Amino acid sequence: MTTNFLQTPIDYLKGVGPNRADLLRKELGIHTYQDLINLFPNRYIDRTKYYKIGELQRNNTEIQVVGKITSLKEVAQKRGKRLVAKFQDDTGSMELVWFRGQKWIRESIKTNKAYVIFGKANWFNGTFSMPHPEMELLEEHKKSLRSAMQPVYPSTEKLSNKGITNRVVNKIMQQLFIETKSTFSETLSPQLLSELKLVSKSEALFNVHFPKNQTLLAKGQYRLKFEELFYIQLQLIIKNLIHKSKIKGFPFEKVGEHFNTFFQEHLPFDLTNAQKRVIKEIRQDLGSNAQMNRLLQGDVGSGKTIVALMSMFMALDNGFQACLMAPTAILSVQHYTGLLEYCNKLNISIKILVGSTKTSERNKIHESLENGSLDILIGTHALLEDKVKFKNLGLAIIDEQHKFGVAQRSKLWKKNTSPPHILIMTATPIPRTLAMSVYGDLDMSIIDELPPGRKPVKTVHRFDSNRLKVFRFIKDEIKKGRQVYIVYPLIQESSTLDYKDLMDGYESIVRDFPQPEYQVSIVHGKMKPEAKEYEMQRFVEGKTQIMVATTVIEVGVNVPNASVMIIESAERFGLSQLHQLRGRVGRGADQSYCILMTSHKLSNDSKIRLETMTHTNDGFEIAEVDLKLRGPGDIMGTQQSGALNLKIADIIKDRDILQNARYYAQKILKRDPNLADNENKVLLQTYKQLSKYKNIWNYIG
Ligand code: ADP
Ligand code: MG
Repeated sequence: MTTNFLQTPIDYLKGVGPNRADLLRKELGIHTYQDLINLFPNRYIDRTKYYKIGELQRNNTEIQVVGKITSLKEVAQKRGKRLVAKFQDDTGSMELVWFRGQKWIRESIKTNKAYVIFGKANWFNGTFSMPHPEMELLEEHKKSLRSAMQPVYPSTEKLSNKGITNRVVNKIMQQLFIETKSTFSETLSPQLLSELKLVSKSEALFNVHFPKNQTLLAKGQYRLKFEELFYIQLQLIIKNLIHKSKIKGFPFEKVGEHFNTFFQEHLPFDLTNAQKRVIKEIRQDLGSNAQMNRLLQGDVGSGKTIVALMSMFMALDNGFQACLMAPTAILSVQHYTGLLEYCNKLNISIKILVGSTKTSERNKIHESLENGSLDILIGTHALLEDKVKFKNLGLAIIDEQHKFGVAQRSKLWKKNTSPPHILIMTATPIPRTLAMSVYGDLDMSIIDELPPGRKPVKTVHRFDSNRLKVFRFIKDEIKKGRQVYIVYPLIQESSTLDYKDLMDGYESIVRDFPQPEYQVSIVHGKMKPEAKEYEMQRFVEGKTQIMVATTVIEVGVNVPNASVMIIESAERFGLSQLHQLRGRVGRGADQSYCILMTSHKLSNDSKIRLETMTHTNDGFEIAEVDLKLRGPGDIMGTQQSGALNLKIADIIKDRDILQNARYYAQKILKRDPNLADNENKVLLQTYKQLSKYKNIWNYIG
């Protein structure tokens, strides 16, 4: 069937009608025939296999057994009674149990006749027992013509309440296949089909909705997953290509005075090879005619800031302004003070703009930006305000991207007649598969090497009951001249309970670490920005030894003398947060420590998180575990989840297919960037169709 036919509204399908159509639209987003075809089962109930009671395993999956009921009895229980049947085959016996509808069961069940039963078997009191089995007399079962692998479609409570059960969905799906005669236009090129040995579109769709066995199902699924991921990659790569060809950037033709003077005279350390490589990659982008759209990934402490600074020099050397946007005021201040030193040496003007910046200062900034006398502006979201206008913004850098949305990225773009080059720096490494799917339209640079001489942070897990020992350890470290962070979870900014924990903790620390020997700082989100900055500054200057804080210190703060990070209620933090927090220490020459404090009550996921933290310092490895625990949507937040809104593929489980899909998409576009060759005709057609019917691949931006 042609794609146009598949755009028929779902109301027209026989057996659907206006009411059901309405529900399908609202509950599952099914508007058209095409949408229905793309409603793929979550799972399948395999009824191809018949188990013997003697071979049942205690893994509690759905099973099917042929046997006879030999006896029935009622058993009294706390409330009411249950009906228990003994069910036997030639290898053993098990129990069938009913808690409801017992009268009807008693009357309709025939003992000593062969039945096929189906359901979940639990291991209970030394025997297998199946509550409320699906039952059918064996002779009936043989006559009925059902699909052996029963698809289970996504559903909602409302759908099943209104009678659109799985059976009904199955029926209308059948109707759709009748109306389309089970034929669907091929959407992959013959080359891809033969090279990857993929089954045809029609065959794949049929076998995914009405599989006869596991093998056919797997082939169908593979083909559809590949196709889904392939077109997403094709779109992302095309977007990137179009971008490069259509959107002219400002070519930064020369590497000039600022860059060279800094590099030769003021660079505080040798760059790592990874930093050099990345600066080269950025230099190449900036020197070309196309606008740069690059994602810079690197673990905490890998030295992204210096890369940002040197990129900004390139802009300045070519007569442009640059800005750096960070997610918090504290981090902006930190960047600003760090960079100010170098900028002064080089006679570069630099300013900071945050929410709390006074109006008079703001006005000055606005003016100097517009007349071009200000070279670099650092700040928070405040940079995005309409009033902030540049004379000629050449490069915009976004630090810690995950706190910003895609929309903000594009807002920065509009600050100029022509978009500035954009460099996005992530705080936490992103797993490869996720990076490919979400940032597949960006070019990618990775700093995969830490500056030399870093000792890995030693990480341990301690229970609250060992607090005294931990405090003794802190005292020893302070004696050696070190500083300590103690971090409390603040899951919700407004949560009074979390604040109470923080304040209780603070009080007990002040008690255990009395003045004048010890000075304790506290920083949290309810404090005024000036008060926060004041406390941070005292800690930075070494005037206080202990910093009690909520996660406001999570991103970016740099105090090399701090060598101990205590994380309270560590079980409540996510992995990337823990890794970020740990990244606050280990920045100096001394051995650093991270102590994860928890209660004894730990969920399985918490245990995995704690084990991961104590066993590795590698941000990419941690990101992979995080992705498995939390799933992609949760990690990227809702802003970007569009790209993850997959119908059949799963970027974690199907990572190999994803890699393959990207490989082929790249290969094809490299040879034929416009998909103009005859052999790619079908790809171009499908690509256009997908872009046209956005509801199918609603991710296309
Ligand atoms: P992040 O990538 O987390 O933003 P930073 O840019 O804050 O890391 O760098 C962390 C620390 O490492 C800073 O104190 C910085 O001065 C230092 N640093 C960066 N690059 C190097 C290098 N090549 N050699 C030594 N120290 C470096
Ligand atoms: Mg940083």
